[in-house]
Amino acid sequence: MTQAEASVSKTELETHIETELARLSNTFAAGVTRSVAWRKGQINGLIRFAKDNTDALIDAMASDLGRPPIEGWTADISSSIAGAEYVASRVGKWAKPRRRRLPVVTQPGSAKVIPEPLGLSLVIAPWNYPVNLVLEPLVASFAAGNVVAVKPSEVSSATSAVIAKHLPKYVDERALAIFEGDADVSTALLAQRFDHIFFTGSTNVGRIVMRAAAEHLTPVVLELGGKSPVIVTKDADISVAANRIAWGKTFNAGQTCIAPDYVLVDESRRDELVDGITTAWQTFYGDRPAESPDFGRIINERHHRRLTGLLDELDDDTVIHSGDAGTRSGDAGADGLYLSPTIVIDPPRDSSLMTNEIFGPILPIISVHDVTESIQFVNERPKPLALYVFSESSKTVDQVLSQTSSGGACVNHTLLHFVPPDLPFGGVGASGMGRYHGKAGFDAFSNMKGVLSKPTVGEHNLVYPPYNDAKQKLLRKIL
Ligand code: NAD
Repeated sequence: MTQAEASVSKTELETHIETELARLSNTFAAGVTRSVAWRKGQINGLIRFAKDNTDALIDAMASDLGRPPIEGWTADISSSIAGAEYVASRVGKWAKPRRRRLPVVTQPGSAKVIPEPLGLSLVIAPWNYPVNLVLEPLVASFAAGNVVAVKPSEVSSATSAVIAKHLPKYVDERALAIFEGDADVSTALLAQRFDHIFFTGSTNVGRIVMRAAAEHLTPVVLELGGKSPVIVTKDADISVAANRIAWGKTFNAGQTCIAPDYVLVDESRRDELVDGITTAWQTFYGDRPAESPDFGRIINERHHRRLTGLLDELDDDTVIHSGDAGTRSGDAGADGLYLSPTIVIDPPRDSSLMTNEIFGPILPIISVHDVTESIQFVNERPKPLALYVFSESSKTVDQVLSQTSSGGACVNHTLLHFVPPDLPFGGVGASGMGRYHGKAGFDAFSNMKGVLSKPTVGEHNLVYPPYNDAKQKLLRKIL
């Protein structure tokens, strides 16, 4: 493509985006999205879309990610349906104005909070849970009465195609526009003015999104990544911890925003934990995980090279491959994108493995002297999206939770805090801002308008100038 052709097609893209967004804005301005019945209709449409297209979506995720059907169903389909059903059953209540108390000085009168939709929202999604991370933000946006532009990830192109082809049939097409494509499409979208942007993806792109949003003072929810630690204390039930950490690390081949990134374990329990995790992986995937239908693949060659590159930097003696090895760079396994579940014992703290989000089935296990050292380790790094603590002592759990900061946390398990439909989900600091799921999502996409109403009877001049001593005395008494 010549430079001139590229600029023509860019203009076409911009024109297409502007036309589509104008269409959505007109729908919003016409007021069709306001009623609770319309909102429920859209959410129910999203549920029907997920149910009617389950097989196509699961096949698309298998093609994009080598995702086993059970993982496709649990993490993307059933979780989206459960979240949507919860919201549909409560949105009527959440959308109602809520009364507030009035202080004496403003009486008589009444006050209420009126949740109103923000208007035109933009949802940008990543590839790792390519159905859930489109549907759940859509549920929240429609629940709040907005119109939505959606940009699925080009990396999970098969899933993006199913969504773009079928989803519009299930909702009010006047209120939805789907833009398939890569970063150029996102960039062109972000140049436009939105009333709300909901972005899920990497911390670096999150910065780009926030910068673009600042131009228009658009509020954002940023659902980002990071290194989510696991703290395993001296008194933990190691065999249970090993199973649950092993599962959380290799679900979707470790390509989960809240996957355990690394483990900090009391040095007296380290070897037992390493054995336990290795045994768990052996039980899950057998001697040759490459041949297990239950173990996914790395999304593409770029990420595969990135992951094997992390291992190449390390001393061989510290790397334990579960089952078949053959995962060093240049050897991507039989189907090109396989990477065996791998433990790395006590990697250097300044290695790339310990300074970047791993996002793959590699698990560094780091020995610490005690829980205080684990807490310090976590606090010296950017605030993570999730934190996991395994301990039999509620006092130790409280100590970890109260002395660290993370977007969410899960005690004695991994990943599961994403599941309850009314548990707010999101990051803090470098792992993001804002929350969704259940009422938190409704609130994120709403303007909570505070309204005070006064009757016109009973007019008095107590707070009006001219001020005098009598007014001052009285006001000091009653305020
Ligand atoms: P990504 O940031 O590369 O891409 C996310 C989206 O942004 C995609 O739709 C992509 O097309 C778009 N994009 C890419 N570059 C862009 C640019 N320069 N300008 C504008 N838009 C751009 O992330 P990814 O690789 O798709 O997903 C993996 C990351 O997402 C990981 O860091 C992971 O932790 C994070 N993540 C977070 C959550 C969460 O809930 N917090 C969930 C899933 C994934």
